Amino acid sequence: MTERTFSIIKPDATERNLTGAINAVIEASGLRIVAQRRIRMSRAQAEQFYGVHKERPFFGELVDFMTSGPVVVQVLEGDNAVAAYRDVMGATNPDNAADGTIRKLFARNVGENSVHGSDSAENAAIEIAQFFSADDIVG
Ligand code: ADP
Ligand code: MG
Repeated sequence: MTERTFSIIKPDATERNLTGAINAVIEASGLRIVAQRRIRMSRAQAEQFYGVHKERPFFGELVDFMTSGPVVVQVLEGDNAVAAYRDVMGATNPDNAADGTIRKLFARNVGENSVHGSDSAENAAIEIAQFFSADDIVG
C-alpha cells in the first residue's frame, strides 16, 4: 500500500553537510522524496512537534537541539512508507541500530541521531500538515 511519512534531517546532520548522503540512503531504499524544505524550527514549532514527550527528562534538551540549527523537513512516499522509513532510520540509539541504517551510519548519540520519522500513519498525517500544504507535495 502506497503511503506517506514525515521525515526531518536534524541539526547534527545538516551541520556536517550530510543532507545529500542521507537522501541517498532514503532514495536507495526505494522511498521517494515528494516534498522537501530547509527551515529553522522555532521553539514553538519544536515544542508542538515533540509535545508527546513533554514530560520526558530530555524534552528541554530535545527542543534546544532541534532549534540549534537548520533542519530539512520532508515528505517520503512509498510502499508502507511509515514502517519502511523506520527500518531505514534504525533504532533511536545508534548503538542499537542495524548496520546500513541512517542512524548507524551517521548519528552521534541517542539525542543527536540525525533523523526523525513518523511512528504511525495517523501521526504522519498530523506531522506533514504541521509543515506542508497539499500544494507543496508533488508525488
Ligand atoms: P524516535 O525518534 O526513534 O521515534 P523517540 O520518539 O523515543 O524516538 O524520541 C524522540 C527523539 O527524542 C529522539 O529521536 C531523540 O532525538 C530524542 N531522545 C529520545 N530518547 C532520548 C534520550 N534518552 N536522551 C536524549 N534524547 C533522547
Ligand atoms: Mg518518535
